[in-house]
Amino acid sequence: MVRIAIIGGGIGGLTTAIALRQVGFEPEVYEQAPALLDVGAAIAIWPNAMRILARLGLADKILEKAGVIEEIRWLDQKGWLINRVSISTALALHRADLQSILVQALPPIHLGHTLISYTQPGDKVIAIFANGLTTEADFLIGADGIHSRVRAQFINDGEPVYRGYTVWRGISPAVPPTIPPATALEIHGRGKRFGIGPVGLGRLGWWASANDAGDLLSLFEGWYQPVLELIDSTPRSSILKTDAFDRPPNKSWGSGRMTLLGDAIHPTTPNLGQGGCLAMEDATVLARCFHKYGASEEALRAYERCRYRRTSAMSKYSRYYGSIGQWENIWARGFRKTTLALVPEALAHRLMQIVFDYDATV
Ligand SMILES: Cc1cc2nc3c(=O)[nH]c(=O)nc-3n(C[C@H](O)[C@H](O)[C@H](O)COP(=O)(O)OP(=O)(O)OC[C@H]3O[C@@H](n4cnc5c(N)ncnc54)[C@H](O)[C@@H]3O)c2cc1C
Repeated sequence: MVRIAIIGGGIGGLTTAIALRQVGFEPEVYEQAPALLDVGAAIAIWPNAMRILARLGLADKILEKAGVIEEIRWLDQKGWLINRVSISTALALHRADLQSILVQALPPIHLGHTLISYTQPGDKVIAIFANGLTTEADFLIGADGIHSRVRAQFINDGEPVYRGYTVWRGISPAVPPTIPPATALEIHGRGKRFGIGPVGLGRLGWWASANDAGDLLSLFEGWYQPVLELIDSTPRSSILKTDAFDRPPNKSWGSGRMTLLGDAIHPTTPNLGQGGCLAMEDATVLARCFHKYGASEEALRAYERCRYRRTSAMSKYSRYYGSIGQWENIWARGFRKTTLALVPEALAHRLMQIVFDYDATV
C-alpha cells in the first residue's frame, strides 16, 4: 500500500484525503489540534468549489447546513445600491460545519500531531512530530496552512506579507428584515468594507475590513442600519479578528516526494472568499494526478505545474480587489463607485466566470 501523510486537517488537507480515497489511496491526516473545536466564522463555497463537493458526494450534506447565495450586490455605506449580479448557486456555512462534514467522510484522523520537521531519506519521507512520534510515508503533503512548517523547512522565505488592513468575521443569530434573501452584500466606505451573507440555519454571516483597527461599533457608526445591528447581536467572544496577509507566488511547490497545498503554498487575501475553494481545487487536481500518473514524483510535479497559474492569478486578483476596496481618497472612491455602477451585468458575469467556471474535476 502507498503511504501518504497529509500534514494539516484544515479544508485543504481533509479534502485531499477524501479526493485521494476516491481514487483508491488511503492517506493519513496529521493535525496539530488536540480536538476539532466548534470555532470559526462563515466560509463561502463558490461554484468552482461546489462542483468539487458534488464530485466528492458531499454537496447535499453541505446544503443541509448552508445558506444559499444567488446574487451579489454592492452598496454604498448608506445602503444605496451600486450594482448587482446574479450568480450560479453558491453556499456559505459555518466553518465548523464544513470541517465536521469533511472529517465524517474519513476514517479517524491523527489529532495532537504537530509536525516539527521532515526528512527524505531515499525513497521515503519521515515526518517528526512534537509529541515524540514519527511516521514513515512514501509521500508527504504539506497542507498546514499559512504558517506552514513544511513550507518553512522547504522554502524558508519568511513570514507572509501584511496587506494593510484588518478583517473581522462573525455569525449573527439575528436576520434584520431589510436584508434580501439569498444575497451576498458588499458595502463600501472610506477605507472600510462590510460584507453580509446567509450562512444557513437562520443565521447571517458578516465580515468587516478596515485600514485602522479600532473598535468595530465606532468604526461603522452611521453605516447602513443592519451593519451595527449585526455586529451588536454577535457574541463578542465569537468575533474573529485577523490581519489580511498573502504571499507573492512561488513556483517551487515541492521536491522529491513532498509537495505543498492550499494556504501553505498560496495564501490569499480574503477579498474573493476563494482561499478555501482554491485549496479544494488543489486537492482535486492532486488526486487526479495520482490517478493518472500513479503514486509518483511525476504526479506531484504535474500537480504543481497545473496549479501554479490559476492560484497565482487568483491571489493577485484578490489582492487588487482588496486594495481598491480599501481606498480612502475621495476621488479614488468616487471613481470606484462610478466604475462599479457602470459595469453591465454581462461583463460582471464574464469576470465572475474567470473565478467560478474553473473546473478542477476534469
Ligand atoms: C477573513 C477570512 C475570510 C475567509 N473567507 C473565505 C471564504 O469565504 N471562502 C474561502 O474559500 N476561503 C476563505 N478564506 C480562506 C480560507 O480560510 C483558507 O484559504 C483555507 O482555510 C485554507 O485551507 P488550508 O487547509 O490550506 O489551511 P487551514 O485551513 O489553515 O488548515 C491548516 C491546518 O493545518 C494545521 N496545522 C498547522 N500547522 C501544523 C503542523 N505543524 N502540524 C500539523 N498540523 C498543522 C492547522 O491546525 C489547520 O488545521 C478566508 C480567510 C480569511 C482570513
